[in-house]
Amino acid sequence: MQQQNSPLTTLREEIATACRQVGRDPDAVTLLAVSKTRSAPELAALADQGQRDFGENYLQEALEKMAALADRELIWHFIGPIQSNKTRDIAARFHWVHSVDRLKVARRLSEQRPDGLPPLNICIQVNVDDEESKSGVPLAQVPGLVEAVAGLPNLTLRGLMAIPRADSHDGNRAAFRQLAMTLSQLRNTMPALDTLSMGMSADYRVAIEEGATVVRLGTALFGPRPTRSPGV
Ligand SMILES: *Cc1c(COP(=O)(O)O)cnc(C)c1O
Repeated sequence: MQQQNSPLTTLREEIATACRQVGRDPDAVTLLAVSKTRSAPELAALADQGQRDFGENYLQEALEKMAALADRELIWHFIGPIQSNKTRDIAARFHWVHSVDRLKVARRLSEQRPDGLPPLNICIQVNVDDEESKSGVPLAQVPGLVEAVAGLPNLTLRGLMAIPRADSHDGNRAAFRQLAMTLSQLRNTMPALDTLSMGMSADYRVAIEEGATVVRLGTALFGPRPTRSPGV
């Protein structure tokens, strides 16, 4: 009987293909399922297919899904903007935070990481386009922030993250290359940095060609998102 591949299976194959085309090991790229606005049963269906890493943007929504899926060993990544008053729950409940763009937030995450948990994995979010409107630390300030965050006791700095503006020009290749170069320079003094979180549904293949180790996929995995009402 002919069976249609699930979107997850198809994406895994496409990630592997993109890796092989540039001589990278397919295991070097993690598929992060971006599950904002998706229900716990939708996440459970992916978990049944072996998906472990989930990315959430909204704390309250994430906490509800964590409770509903508590019996599964999932890895939770916070990828949304961080308000200082949300750091306590983020520090307590997540395994990764990709969206750290200021020292104040990093300090709070470190101070509030509960005893007995391993250090929280951190990526610094970089504003590669230097756009006023976007979150992320400007490129020029990355080395200073990286050094300060690396010194915090309950965090493990893993690398860099970016959300380049949707750019028609070759799927953000220049921005991805810039981020990869920045990580490579940091690795001269901090060789343990191993993570480049870049690439979304529209441009993950290009991101992989440029060295992404985490691609964050929402729409490609779940289909178009329902629009959210403000304030949720
Ligand atoms: C929503 C979101 C994604 C996923 O975007 P898609 O285009 O649906 O794949 C990735 N990263 C971040 C930070 C997001 O907020």
